[in-house]
Amino acid sequence: MLICFIWVMSMTTVARAPVAGTEPAVRGANVFCRNGGAMAVQAASGKHFLVASDFDQTLSFNDSGLVLSELIGASGFQQKVEGLARSNLVQQGGELAYLLRHDPEFRGVRREHLEETGRRVRLRSNIPALVEFLERGIEGCQFSFFVISAAPREVIQSALAGVVSPDHIFGTELDYDPLSGEVCSIVRVPAGYGKVAVVEELESRLALEPSRTIYIGDGSSDVHVMLHVNNRDGFTIAVSENTQLARIARSTVLSDDAFSVIVPILDQVLKWSSGDIRSLFESNGLTLQEWAKARTDRVTVGAVPATAVDAIA
Ligand SMILES: [Mg+2]
Repeated sequence: MLICFIWVMSMTTVARAPVAGTEPAVRGANVFCRNGGAMAVQAASGKHFLVASDFDQTLSFNDSGLVLSELIGASGFQQKVEGLARSNLVQQGGELAYLLRHDPEFRGVRREHLEETGRRVRLRSNIPALVEFLERGIEGCQFSFFVISAAPREVIQSALAGVVSPDHIFGTELDYDPLSGEVCSIVRVPAGYGKVAVVEELESRLALEPSRTIYIGDGSSDVHVMLHVNNRDGFTIAVSENTQLARIARSTVLSDDAFSVIVPILDQVLKWSSGDIRSLFESNGLTLQEWAKARTDRVTVGAVPATAVDAIA
Protein backbone atom coordinates (compact mmCIF):
# COMPACT_ATOMS: atom_id res chain seq x y z
CA MET A 1 0.00 0.00 0.00
CA LEU A 2 2.90 2.31 0.75
CA ILE A 3 4.16 2.12 -2.80
CA CYS A 4 0.73 2.74 -4.25
CA PHE A 5 0.29 5.73 -1.97
CA ILE A 6 3.59 7.27 -3.09
CA TRP A 7 2.66 6.82 -6.73
CA VAL A 8 -1.00 7.60 -6.36
CA MET A 9 -0.85 10.55 -8.76
CA SER A 10 0.07 8.26 -11.62
CA MET A 11 -2.15 5.37 -10.63
CA THR A 12 -4.64 4.02 -13.11
CA THR A 13 -7.13 1.38 -12.10
CA VAL A 14 -8.00 -1.10 -14.78
CA ALA A 15 -11.47 -2.55 -14.59
CA ARG A 16 -12.05 -6.23 -13.89
CA ALA A 17 -11.23 -8.29 -16.94
CA PRO A 18 -14.07 -10.05 -18.71
CA VAL A 19 -14.27 -13.56 -17.37
CA ALA A 20 -16.09 -15.24 -20.21
CA GLY A 21 -15.54 -14.87 -23.92
CA THR A 22 -12.89 -13.02 -25.91
CA GLU A 23 -12.89 -10.74 -28.91
CA PRO A 24 -12.35 -12.73 -32.11
CA ALA A 25 -9.42 -10.49 -33.04
CA VAL A 26 -7.41 -11.51 -30.00
CA ARG A 27 -7.67 -15.28 -30.19
CA GLY A 28 -4.55 -17.35 -30.59
CA ALA A 29 -0.87 -16.59 -30.24
CA ASN A 30 -0.45 -15.05 -33.71
CA VAL A 31 -2.93 -12.31 -32.92
CA PHE A 32 -0.14 -10.24 -31.41
CA CYS A 33 1.34 -9.74 -34.87
CA ARG A 34 -1.96 -8.47 -36.25
CA ASN A 35 -3.52 -6.21 -33.65
CA GLY A 36 -2.36 -3.34 -31.48
CA GLY A 37 0.56 -5.34 -30.12
CA ALA A 38 2.12 -5.67 -33.56
CA MET A 39 4.47 -2.72 -33.21
CA ALA A 40 5.75 -3.89 -29.86
CA VAL A 41 6.48 -7.36 -31.20
CA GLN A 42 8.14 -6.10 -34.35
CA ALA A 43 10.27 -3.70 -32.33
CA ALA A 44 11.39 -6.62 -30.23
CA SER A 45 12.05 -8.84 -33.24
CA GLY A 46 14.72 -11.45 -32.61
CA LYS A 47 15.27 -10.46 -29.01
CA HIS A 48 16.54 -13.01 -26.55
CA PHE A 49 16.08 -12.37 -22.82
CA LEU A 50 17.56 -14.04 -19.77
CA VAL A 51 14.80 -14.27 -17.14
CA ALA A 52 16.39 -15.09 -13.78
CA SER A 53 14.29 -15.68 -10.70
CA ASP A 54 15.03 -16.08 -7.02
CA PHE A 55 13.35 -19.10 -5.33
CA ASP A 56 12.54 -18.55 -1.63
CA GLN A 57 9.44 -16.34 -1.32
CA THR A 58 9.63 -15.50 -5.02
CA LEU A 59 8.50 -18.83 -6.48
CA SER A 60 7.53 -20.12 -3.01
CA PHE A 61 5.70 -18.70 0.00
CA ASN A 62 8.07 -19.87 2.73
CA ASP A 63 11.78 -19.76 3.28
CA SER A 64 13.10 -23.24 2.58
CA GLY A 65 15.41 -22.92 5.61
CA LEU A 66 12.35 -22.60 7.81
CA VAL A 67 10.78 -25.68 6.22
CA LEU A 68 14.03 -27.64 6.72
CA SER A 69 14.34 -26.55 10.36
CA GLU A 70 10.78 -27.77 11.00
CA LEU A 71 11.57 -31.06 9.28
CA ILE A 72 14.64 -31.77 11.43
CA GLY A 73 13.24 -30.19 14.59
CA ALA A 74 15.83 -27.39 14.79
CA SER A 75 14.82 -24.44 16.95
CA GLY A 76 14.96 -20.68 16.55
CA PHE A 77 15.74 -20.61 12.83
CA GLN A 78 14.43 -17.08 12.31
CA GLN A 79 16.33 -15.68 15.29
CA LYS A 80 19.53 -17.37 14.10
CA VAL A 81 19.12 -15.89 10.63
CA GLU A 82 18.46 -12.44 12.05
CA GLY A 83 21.51 -12.72 14.30
CA LEU A 84 23.71 -13.67 11.34
CA ALA A 85 22.28 -10.82 9.27
CA ARG A 86 23.07 -8.32 12.05
CA SER A 87 26.65 -9.56 12.26
CA ASN A 88 27.18 -9.31 8.47
CA LEU A 89 29.19 -12.51 8.75
CA VAL A 90 27.66 -14.05 5.62
CA GLN A 91 26.15 -12.71 2.41
CA GLN A 92 22.47 -11.96 2.92
CA GLY A 93 20.56 -15.08 1.93
CA GLY A 94 23.51 -17.34 2.71
CA GLU A 95 22.54 -17.87 6.35
CA LEU A 96 21.17 -21.40 5.86
CA ALA A 97 24.41 -22.50 4.17
CA TYR A 98 26.31 -21.17 7.20
CA LEU A 99 24.00 -22.95 9.65
CA LEU A 100 24.37 -26.23 7.75
CA ARG A 101 28.09 -26.17 8.47
CA HIS A 102 28.28 -24.46 11.82
CA ASP A 103 25.08 -24.89 13.83
CA PRO A 104 24.96 -28.09 15.93
CA GLU A 105 21.22 -28.49 15.25
CA PHE A 106 21.80 -28.51 11.48
CA ARG A 107 24.68 -30.98 11.57
CA GLY A 108 23.53 -34.30 10.29
CA VAL A 109 21.49 -32.87 7.43
CA ARG A 110 21.71 -35.20 4.45
CA ARG A 111 20.62 -34.99 0.84
CA GLU A 112 17.31 -36.71 1.58
CA HIS A 113 16.41 -34.04 4.16
CA LEU A 114 16.88 -31.36 1.51
CA GLU A 115 14.86 -33.27 -1.08
CA GLU A 116 12.04 -33.77 1.41
CA THR A 117 12.18 -30.06 2.25
CA GLY A 118 11.67 -29.30 -1.44
CA ARG A 119 8.58 -31.52 -1.51
CA ARG A 120 7.16 -29.65 1.51
CA VAL A 121 7.79 -26.12 0.23
CA ARG A 122 4.53 -24.39 -0.69
CA LEU A 123 4.91 -22.96 -4.19
CA ARG A 124 3.15 -20.02 -5.76
CA SER A 125 0.51 -21.06 -8.25
CA ASN A 126 0.98 -21.38 -12.00
CA ILE A 127 4.76 -21.85 -12.02
CA PRO A 128 4.37 -24.51 -14.79
CA ALA A 129 2.35 -22.00 -16.87
CA LEU A 130 5.08 -19.38 -16.38
CA VAL A 131 7.87 -21.77 -17.36
CA GLU A 132 6.00 -23.15 -20.37
CA PHE A 133 5.16 -19.65 -21.57
CA LEU A 134 8.78 -18.52 -21.33
CA GLU A 135 10.05 -21.68 -23.02
CA ARG A 136 7.55 -21.21 -25.85
CA GLY A 137 8.36 -17.52 -26.19
CA ILE A 138 6.38 -15.12 -28.31
CA GLU A 139 6.91 -14.11 -31.88
CA GLY A 140 10.10 -12.07 -32.04
CA CYS A 141 11.09 -12.86 -28.45
CA GLN A 142 12.88 -15.80 -26.91
CA PHE A 143 13.29 -16.26 -23.18
CA SER A 144 15.74 -18.40 -21.22
CA PHE A 145 14.49 -19.01 -17.69
CA PHE A 146 16.83 -19.81 -14.79
CA VAL A 147 16.40 -19.99 -11.03
CA ILE A 148 19.21 -18.40 -9.00
CA SER A 149 18.87 -18.88 -5.26
CA ALA A 150 20.87 -19.29 -2.08
CA ALA A 151 18.61 -22.21 -1.11
CA PRO A 152 20.33 -25.60 -1.40
CA ARG A 153 20.15 -26.81 -4.99
CA GLU A 154 18.60 -30.12 -3.89
CA VAL A 155 15.69 -28.25 -2.27
CA ILE A 156 14.91 -26.26 -5.42
CA GLN A 157 15.33 -29.20 -7.79
CA SER A 158 12.98 -31.27 -5.65
CA ALA A 159 10.40 -28.48 -5.36
CA LEU A 160 10.44 -27.78 -9.11
CA ALA A 161 10.88 -31.39 -10.30
CA GLY A 162 9.29 -31.84 -13.71
CA VAL A 163 8.80 -28.08 -14.08
CA VAL A 164 12.27 -26.54 -14.33
CA SER A 165 15.17 -28.51 -15.79
CA PRO A 166 17.87 -29.18 -13.15
CA ASP A 167 20.50 -27.52 -15.33
CA HIS A 168 18.47 -24.30 -15.18
CA ILE A 169 18.68 -24.20 -11.39
CA PHE A 170 21.55 -22.50 -9.54
CA GLY A 171 21.39 -23.05 -5.79
CA THR A 172 23.85 -23.52 -2.97
CA GLU A 173 26.09 -26.46 -3.86
CA LEU A 174 27.04 -28.77 -1.02
CA ASP A 175 29.35 -31.73 -0.67
CA TYR A 176 28.37 -34.79 1.35
CA ASP A 177 30.48 -37.08 3.48
CA PRO A 178 30.72 -40.37 1.56
CA LEU A 179 30.32 -42.42 4.75
CA SER A 180 27.67 -40.57 6.75
CA GLY A 181 25.96 -38.80 3.84
CA GLU A 182 25.97 -35.61 5.92
CA VAL A 183 26.78 -32.16 4.52
CA CYS A 184 30.54 -31.76 4.94
CA SER A 185 31.42 -28.67 2.90
CA ILE A 186 30.00 -25.78 0.91
CA VAL A 187 31.08 -25.47 -2.72
CA ARG A 188 29.24 -22.33 -3.82
CA VAL A 189 26.56 -20.00 -2.42
CA PRO A 190 24.63 -17.86 -4.92
CA ALA A 191 23.62 -15.29 -2.27
CA GLY A 192 24.13 -11.54 -2.35
CA TYR A 193 26.98 -10.77 -4.72
CA GLY A 194 27.14 -14.49 -5.54
CA LYS A 195 23.98 -13.97 -7.62
CA VAL A 196 25.76 -11.35 -9.70
CA ALA A 197 28.43 -13.91 -10.56
CA VAL A 198 25.78 -16.38 -11.78
CA VAL A 199 23.96 -13.73 -13.85
CA GLU A 200 27.23 -12.73 -15.54
CA GLU A 201 28.05 -16.40 -16.17
CA LEU A 202 24.66 -16.93 -17.83
CA GLU A 203 24.88 -13.75 -19.91
CA SER A 204 28.23 -14.96 -21.18
CA ARG A 205 26.99 -18.50 -21.84
CA LEU A 206 23.93 -17.24 -23.71
CA ALA A 207 25.92 -14.46 -25.47
CA LEU A 208 23.42 -11.85 -24.26
CA GLU A 209 23.83 -8.13 -23.75
CA PRO A 210 23.31 -7.22 -20.05
CA SER A 211 20.35 -5.08 -21.10
CA ARG A 212 18.51 -8.32 -21.98
CA THR A 213 18.55 -9.58 -18.40
CA ILE A 214 15.35 -9.59 -16.36
CA TYR A 215 15.73 -10.45 -12.67
CA ILE A 216 12.88 -11.31 -10.28
CA GLY A 217 13.31 -11.40 -6.50
CA ASP A 218 11.75 -10.63 -3.17
CA GLY A 219 14.30 -9.83 -0.49
CA SER A 220 17.53 -8.33 0.73
CA SER A 221 19.54 -11.18 -0.83
CA ASP A 222 18.49 -9.75 -4.20
CA VAL A 223 19.70 -6.17 -3.63
CA HIS A 224 23.19 -6.64 -5.11
CA VAL A 225 21.99 -8.41 -8.23
CA MET A 226 19.14 -5.96 -8.83
CA LEU A 227 21.48 -2.97 -8.57
CA HIS A 228 23.86 -4.75 -10.94
CA VAL A 229 21.14 -5.57 -13.48
CA ASN A 230 19.71 -2.03 -13.30
CA ASN A 231 23.13 -0.45 -13.74
CA ARG A 232 23.55 -2.30 -17.02
CA ASP A 233 20.09 -1.39 -18.35
CA GLY A 234 18.43 -4.69 -17.52
CA PHE A 235 15.00 -4.91 -15.89
CA THR A 236 14.19 -5.86 -12.30
CA ILE A 237 10.94 -7.00 -10.73
CA ALA A 238 10.27 -7.18 -6.98
CA VAL A 239 7.52 -9.56 -5.85
CA SER A 240 7.29 -8.30 -2.29
CA GLU A 241 6.87 -5.04 -0.44
CA ASN A 242 10.42 -5.22 0.92
CA THR A 243 11.26 -1.54 1.39
CA GLN A 244 14.87 -1.96 0.23
CA LEU A 245 13.83 -3.62 -3.01
CA ALA A 246 10.91 -1.28 -3.66
CA ARG A 247 13.37 1.57 -4.07
CA ILE A 248 15.59 -0.46 -6.40
CA ALA A 249 13.36 -2.64 -8.57
CA ARG A 250 12.06 -1.14 -11.81
CA SER A 251 8.70 -2.73 -11.10
CA THR A 252 6.92 -4.38 -8.20
CA VAL A 253 4.20 -6.98 -8.74
CA LEU A 254 2.25 -8.35 -5.79
CA SER A 255 0.41 -11.58 -6.47
CA ASP A 256 0.18 -15.15 -5.21
CA ASP A 257 0.48 -16.22 -8.82
CA ALA A 258 3.92 -16.75 -10.39
CA PHE A 259 2.58 -16.01 -13.88
CA SER A 260 1.88 -12.41 -12.80
CA VAL A 261 5.52 -11.37 -13.46
CA ILE A 262 4.64 -11.61 -17.14
CA VAL A 263 2.61 -8.40 -16.69
CA PRO A 264 5.53 -5.98 -16.12
CA ILE A 265 7.65 -7.84 -18.71
CA LEU A 266 5.03 -7.31 -21.42
CA ASP A 267 3.96 -3.90 -20.16
CA GLN A 268 7.29 -2.22 -19.45
CA VAL A 269 9.93 -4.21 -21.35
CA LEU A 270 8.02 -5.05 -24.52
CA LYS A 271 5.55 -2.11 -24.34
CA TRP A 272 2.45 -4.18 -24.98
CA SER A 273 -0.95 -2.56 -24.54
CA SER A 274 -3.13 -3.50 -21.56
CA GLY A 275 -5.62 -5.12 -23.94
CA ASP A 276 -2.99 -7.35 -25.53
CA ILE A 277 -1.69 -8.38 -22.10
CA ARG A 278 -5.18 -9.38 -21.00
CA SER A 279 -5.64 -11.30 -24.25
CA LEU A 280 -2.40 -13.17 -23.71
CA PHE A 281 -3.49 -14.21 -20.23
CA GLU A 282 -6.75 -15.51 -21.65
CA SER A 283 -4.94 -17.42 -24.39
CA ASN A 284 -3.02 -19.12 -21.57
CA GLY A 285 -6.25 -20.10 -19.80
CA LEU A 286 -5.96 -17.33 -17.20
CA THR A 287 -7.68 -14.04 -16.60
CA LEU A 288 -6.38 -10.86 -15.06
CA GLN A 289 -9.06 -10.31 -12.45
CA GLU A 290 -7.55 -7.23 -10.84
CA TRP A 291 -4.74 -5.05 -12.08
CA ALA A 292 -4.14 -1.82 -10.22
CA LYS A 293 -1.57 -0.30 -12.51
CA ALA A 294 0.82 1.93 -10.64
CA ARG A 295 4.52 1.51 -9.98
CA THR A 296 3.28 -1.54 -8.11
CA ASP A 297 1.30 -3.98 -10.24
CA ARG A 298 -1.27 -5.70 -8.01
CA VAL A 299 -2.45 -8.74 -9.89
CA THR A 300 -5.00 -11.43 -9.14
CA VAL A 301 -5.08 -14.31 -11.59
CA GLY A 302 -7.80 -16.92 -11.92
CA ALA A 303 -8.62 -19.82 -14.19
CA VAL A 304 -10.89 -19.05 -17.12
CA PRO A 305 -14.24 -20.81 -16.63
CA ALA A 306 -14.70 -23.88 -18.81
CA THR A 307 -17.21 -22.08 -21.04
CA ALA A 308 -14.67 -19.38 -21.83
CA VAL A 309 -11.96 -21.97 -22.58
CA ASP A 310 -14.33 -23.61 -25.04
CA ALA A 311 -14.95 -20.23 -26.65
CA ILE A 312 -11.22 -19.58 -27.04
CA ALA A 313 -10.63 -23.06 -28.47
MG1 LIG B 1 13.96 -14.81 -1.72
